[in-house]
Amino acid sequence: MRIARFSIDGNVAFGAVEGDSPDSLVLDIIKGIPYTDFELSGTKVPLKKVRLLPPVLPNKVVAIGRNYAEHAAEMGNEVPDVPVAFFKPTTSVIGAGDSIEYPSFSEELHHEAELAVVIGRMCREVPRERVKDVIFGYTCANDVTARDVQRRESQWARAKGFDTSCPLGPWVETDVDPGDLAIQATVNGEQRQLGRTSDMVRSVEDLVVHITEAMTLLPGDVILTGTPAGVGPLHVGDEVAVTIEGIGTLTNKVIKRG
Ligand code: MG
Repeated sequence: MRIARFSIDGNVAFGAVEGDSPDSLVLDIIKGIPYTDFELSGTKVPLKKVRLLPPVLPNKVVAIGRNYAEHAAEMGNEVPDVPVAFFKPTTSVIGAGDSIEYPSFSEELHHEAELAVVIGRMCREVPRERVKDVIFGYTCANDVTARDVQRRESQWARAKGFDTSCPLGPWVETDVDPGDLAIQATVNGEQRQLGRTSDMVRSVEDLVVHITEAMTLLPGDVILTGTPAGVGPLHVGDEVAVTIEGIGTLTNKVIKRG
């Protein structure tokens, strides 16, 4: 099931996305909160008529760096012995169709297409065999990065944590196996990144075990699983799209921060 969060007439709701043709998708409005028991109301609205919001409101976004060997190599890095983990703040999260605001302190913004894991229940110290029980679903993410700032500053709070640097969406797919999905980024329709999630150095299971060794994850928390090779620049006016097989396409425009 694909679950979107959206606003219509000033109200915020979750809905199950129905249909196959992008132009005729319908949202069946959900009664209750998707992480727990919920039912479909049967009240349907065309997706075109709503504004999509970030599909989840995470308490935290935990991101993993250098999880595809080819991307680590293109940045001149080795794959680390221990996964590199960092946070993106909740204020960095935007949804499909929202604008990425080019920050004034950078001159080198990059796209990073990533599979995002959405957590469904509170968990800590999750054993490998229980990982599937704590995952609600998957969505597309763009770990937008101020590459020049990342090089200059040893921690990445500014380079990867500025407002609008974490597009998520367009919805959460709850029924997809993340093991071997095509993942790509295009800029203005031109392909920039193309990889497969099977090339991740650490699997989704590995990452959930590793992160929850340290911290409690809450329903709606998000894990970004790293980006394949081909990262590159974004400019004001660009339209960047992250597509993951079986999930959907997350599109955002880049604007100058006003
Ligand atoms: Mg990244």
